Amino acid sequence: MTRRVLVLNAGSSSLKYRLLDGVSGVAEASGSVERIGEDSGTLTHSVGEQDHTEERRVADFEDALRSALGAFDRHGPPIDQDSLAAVGHRVVHGGDLFAEPVLVDDRLLDTVEDLVPLAPLHNPANLEGLRVAQRLFPDVPQVAVFDTAFHQTMPERAYTYAVPASWREEHRIRRYGFHGTSYAFVSRRAAELLGRAVEDTNLVVLHLGNGASAAAVRGGRSVDTSMGFTPLEGLVMGTRSGDVDPAIHGHLHRELGWSLDEIDRALYRESGLLGLSGANDFREVTRRRAVGDEAATLAFDVYAYRVRKYVGAYYAALGALDAVVLTGGVGQHSAELRAAALGGLERLGIVLDPARNEARATDARAVSADGSDVAVLVVPTDEEWEIARQALEVVEA
Ligand code: ADP
Repeated sequence: MTRRVLVLNAGSSSLKYRLLDGVSGVAEASGSVERIGEDSGTLTHSVGEQDHTEERRVADFEDALRSALGAFDRHGPPIDQDSLAAVGHRVVHGGDLFAEPVLVDDRLLDTVEDLVPLAPLHNPANLEGLRVAQRLFPDVPQVAVFDTAFHQTMPERAYTYAVPASWREEHRIRRYGFHGTSYAFVSRRAAELLGRAVEDTNLVVLHLGNGASAAAVRGGRSVDTSMGFTPLEGLVMGTRSGDVDPAIHGHLHRELGWSLDEIDRALYRESGLLGLSGANDFREVTRRRAVGDEAATLAFDVYAYRVRKYVGAYYAALGALDAVVLTGGVGQHSAELRAAALGGLERLGIVLDPARNEARATDARAVSADGSDVAVLVVPTDEEWEIARQALEVVEA
């Protein structure tokens, strides 16, 4: 049976795709359609070393997927329905309903629609991706892989906010967590590096990309994570504040007359590294800090200190720790961040090796000293491969 999976990630105005082998992870082609619905859009299709780019208006998600399929026709490789084992979809929010990937049918589409209020920015686009792919690939099984699913194993004490019962029971107010696909992938790879079954590992995993979160993972299952009801809680991110006192909303509203939407927008889009330093890109923050920029120095310090606090908190939550695992653009590439967040923790058994930490590398590796009780691992994440792997598991079950 074929192991070929087409993975689709439909965002608010973009569609990313990758055609790959769900077992080996080897990609045949990948691409993206950007600025869907705007006056002019861009399609980029990559096969091997070749990138093919075209500019044209892309009306909607159906047009986007048709354009992508057109690029497969013109530039290869061919994909007819018979050659695909599954289409795997990234779906951001599965609420507390999905702890596993699921086969898409009409009932599932209705359920994802019901969850839109929990993820008003993401689920509508994901839903559109699911519907369009069903229309264009009617004979191929479609599998939804939820970003929240991995965290459904969190114990009640970790996912419960101390708020009134009616909020929790009638309005689904609780912590859900995100980046689950990445955590599933990275935890398994980390266990391989440690030479153990994932069931025998206690990990603190740090996913530090544009969005950033931390997770405590025991035996391959999430027991806590820093993002909560929304992807705003927790670590400092590119433009998101992470943890703030929830009373700030009321203060700004009462004192300045700001609307709740304005405050939300500022916390999502104008805060984090951007709010602190004027730059949302961690590389830029690092560059400015290197030449003595005070705002960038503060941004770096606040970011690193927040990561450090979560490492300590999750170490305590787990009670024992085998490895701190870093992934995402910042986690994989910033030796400075790793040193600032994890330096000076020898008494906790965490000992970085400066030369290993600073060595430029792209593969999964240890950056801790040989004698370190707790390994520090850098593991590149691969969410598309994880979605493809999970999709194959569903169709082969
Ligand atoms: P996304 O969450 O969108 O997938 P990434 O995981 O690619 O994003 O992470 C993007 C972040 O990683 C950006 O802030 C970027 O500046 C940072 N980053 C990428 N490369 C480096 C590097 N060499 N040093 C420091 N930060 C880096």
